[in-house]
Amino acid sequence: MAVSGVSSSSQRVSSSSSGMPVLRSGARGSSVKTLQTLLRSKGYSVAVDGSFGPKTLAAVKAFQRASGLSVDGVAGPKTWAALRAGAPSPSPAPAPAANMPTLRSGAKGSAVKTLQTLLRNKGYSVAVDGSFGAKTLAAVKSFQRARGLSVDGSVGPKTWAALGASGVSSSSSSSSSSSGIAATGYRRGQRVSIRIAPVGGGRYLNVRCAQAYKDMLAAARWAGINLSTTSGYRTHAQQQALYKKYGSPRAAKPGYSNHQMGLAVDIGGVGGYNTRAYRWLSANASKFGFANNVPNEYWHFTYVR
Ligand SMILES: [Zn+2]
Repeated sequence: MAVSGVSSSSQRVSSSSSGMPVLRSGARGSSVKTLQTLLRSKGYSVAVDGSFGPKTLAAVKAFQRASGLSVDGVAGPKTWAALRAGAPSPSPAPAPAANMPTLRSGAKGSAVKTLQTLLRNKGYSVAVDGSFGAKTLAAVKSFQRARGLSVDGSVGPKTWAALGASGVSSSSSSSSSSSGIAATGYRRGQRVSIRIAPVGGGRYLNVRCAQAYKDMLAAARWAGINLSTTSGYRTHAQQQALYKKYGSPRAAKPGYSNHQMGLAVDIGGVGGYNTRAYRWLSANASKFGFANNVPNEYWHFTYVR
């Protein structure tokens, strides 16, 4: 229930947009809580305890690195501004009609602009110029391949639906409870039933994010960035073996890794924070619901949607 005159905590956070203090490791108080709340909104799972300790410091540094700021662990004006900025969200698609025309290479007009906008939301940085040229064609084919559609470069009802054109119903839902393979997951130490689906290279992810992940790799490949999957869903035995080998914090305690839910993925081919691949992921992963939110692990992405 909304109570008039009482603002929610999120409103308080977003309205305090100027004059936040510079915060360093060791700081305490309500502004640290604000900082921690904003970090959590960016996918960093720090406690909101008002105490700027090592975990908050690591999260600030990871966020600064991911945002291209200087990595000093100090929350100054630039870091505050970046934390308050909304995640790079897909631009809203112009509302397409329920029945979109079938489009082929060479087509021109507003429906092509709609197509290009939807492709951009899927990570393909084509120009929205209303002209179905070679780049748009390559993007359509890449997307069709990732979706298991026939790769004909022709945008018909199935491709429109897969792209998420509003008013066009999708006949298959990749995240439906009946799709995928039954597997045992773990969340906060508890066994849960999950469903997983292959994402290539013999790796699996939760059906909730498997298609989004495949879409992301396809869009990266279209941009000339070849990513692979080093680790996806892990069984309890696999997590136990990793924990034995690496220990905390490199490996999470068995039963507590997002990999055991199939909702985290280690991506190969990134090569570090200061690479073209990492910059592409920084700019695009959120379009697919993924965030690089573990400090010092440029390869680890969690599905946060
Ligand atoms: Zn990982």
